[in-house]
Amino acid sequence: SGTVLLQVRVAPLGVDRVLVLAEDRTEARRVEAIRRDFVVNVSHELKTPVGAIALLAETVADAADDPVAVRRFTERMQREARRLSALVHEIIELSRLQATGALSDVRSVDVAAVVEEAVDRARTTAAAKNIVITVGGVQDALVFGDHNLLVTAVRNLLDNAVSYSPSNTRVGVGVSERAGLVEITVVDQGVGIALDEQDRVFERFYRVDPARSRDTGGTGLGLSIVKHVAADHGGDVQMWSEPGRGSTFTLRIPAADVPQPTLKEVGA
Ligand code: ADP
Repeated sequence: SGTVLLQVRVAPLGVDRVLVLAEDRTEARRVEAIRRDFVVNVSHELKTPVGAIALLAETVADAADDPVAVRRFTERMQREARRLSALVHEIIELSRLQATGALSDVRSVDVAAVVEEAVDRARTTAAAKNIVITVGGVQDALVFGDHNLLVTAVRNLLDNAVSYSPSNTRVGVGVSERAGLVEITVVDQGVGIALDEQDRVFERFYRVDPARSRDTGGTGLGLSIVKHVAADHGGDVQMWSEPGRGSTFTLRIPAADVPQPTLKEVGA
């Protein structure tokens, strides 16, 4: 709403005069609400796998003399534990990004190397669904930033492309430079995202289909992290998507055409 919350302090200055100090508290309130929501969401998200593991442990104890059941339930426990671990990892990553707001260790980063590392890590999950990741049109490009955070961002986009695509499809990654921006594009032939969901998918913990996302090990934090990494690099994320046809996510980061001077050059 357009309401502005003012914190007003009134100090009497004399018989017929008062001093009114008004401070806009809207932003502070908003930030506080976001933080509170985050804590509530985190607790809720953590409870689900923890509860499942506890329940499965009980079931395993009861089924101790049935090796087939024991195996099935322990596998599910392992899956929940992996999800829990991914969730904790992403929560830490996201709070770190939110706390600092900016990058601590800025260097000139080779984007092709970022893409190569992200693709390498995503290949195993892709192979399990017989999805081929093709890297095409990679241009030599440099940006200023944090190599590892950029790998995380591209990896999240690739993981999503694989998760939300049927088997035997293709995922494409490319790097190009246009108008001073380096663009890393991830294209899939997956389920796509309906127009009215497209803004929401970047929100923390938002999932179009929570059940499906959980099955694929999703946490609902991936795109939120991508958005923060892009913003911290002075860039953004663009999305095109059509249900049933696929999605394209483009990470755009300002190009670093001028290499940073070395310590020797600046006389240090
Ligand atoms: P999750 O861990 O659930 O994948 P994300 O923040 O990465 O969380 O994505 C949020 C939601 O956006 C997902 O749950 C999914 O519904 C949708 N989504 C993300 N990427 C894609 C994609 N490439 N194709 C279709 N849907 C996607």
